[in-house]
Amino acid sequence: AKRDGGGVARRFDPVLFAAAEQRRVAEADLMRGLEAGEFEVHYQPIVDLTNGGMTVGVEALVRWRHPKKGLVPPALFLELAEQLGQVPRLGGWVLEEACRQAMDWQVQFPGFELNVNLSASQLGNPKLIDEVREVLVRTGLPPQDLVLELTESVALTDLVESARVLSALKELGVRIALDDFGTGFSSLSHLSTLPVDVVKIDRSFVQAMPETGGASVAEAVMHIARTFNLSPVAEGVEDAGQAERLKELACGRAQGYHFARPMPALGVTELLDKQSAE
Ligand code: C2E
Ligand code: CA
Ligand code: CA
Ligand code: CA
Repeated sequence: AKRDGGGVARRFDPVLFAAAEQRRVAEADLMRGLEAGEFEVHYQPIVDLTNGGMTVGVEALVRWRHPKKGLVPPALFLELAEQLGQVPRLGGWVLEEACRQAMDWQVQFPGFELNVNLSASQLGNPKLIDEVREVLVRTGLPPQDLVLELTESVALTDLVESARVLSALKELGVRIALDDFGTGFSSLSHLSTLPVDVVKIDRSFVQAMPETGGASVAEAVMHIARTFNLSPVAEGVEDAGQAERLKELACGRAQGYHFARPMPALGVTELLDKQSAE
């Protein structure tokens, strides 16, 4: 170990060094991937439970098509992208790409809905409102068919500012959904403050629904949604029993592996072709 003037031992720590090195490599790789346009949008169908489970829209979900690692899920790169300040740029690309794609589906299914996730840094970006307006103009997507999803934690960091930005977005005609609803702390008190149209019931509540009888958080959340005139969408529906329960609870919309996994755009096109042939 070397000693500096203060007599403090400063040894070379191979573990720390490796971690820092790994991070530098990951950062450079992500920046390279962004430059090279290695990102894709996949789409998960959203179905109408009151109408035989027909696909009425999709949620856009970003993926990284890595040349060596294959398809990388957002959990493995969004946080780093956020730290590198790249999420507004990546998110802007996702929005435009998804709106363009949704226009294709709208030819066959007018009113086909597109949900797009917004991160905190996008919501905090003063250019967001102009960006959304311009994307709608460029792609021609009817604003009422675009739903912007944000998590409670995002919406609640600065409530006054969030309410202002969301109101401005709503003036464009788009709708707002609160994602992972119920997992945050003070969700209830803020439902009346934020201009929200849709609540997405977090998958943890859907998974916890009892097989038969019994009250559930999912049910309570649906009551709350209706009280505030919000449309509930159940997330993470993984089996027929859950779908059946949700239908009984008159939950209009649902999403989950039971219906379909996120898929490339072509998969949705094929699904809609099949659906229109039925
Ligand atoms: P989220 O918005 O809550 O999206 C739903 C996640 O649940 C997706 O994971 C989806 O693949 C997964 N999922 C859907 N159905 C089921 C199911 O039945 N069971 C289980 N266990 N999981 C299901 P994914 O695609 O890995 O995305 C993870 C998160 O990354 C998203 O959670 C969202 O917060 C974020 N994200 C994804 N795409 C974007 C984006 O374009 N922009 C931003 N800002 N965030 C994004
Ligand atoms: Ca979402
Ligand atoms: Ca969610
Ligand atoms: Ca989530």
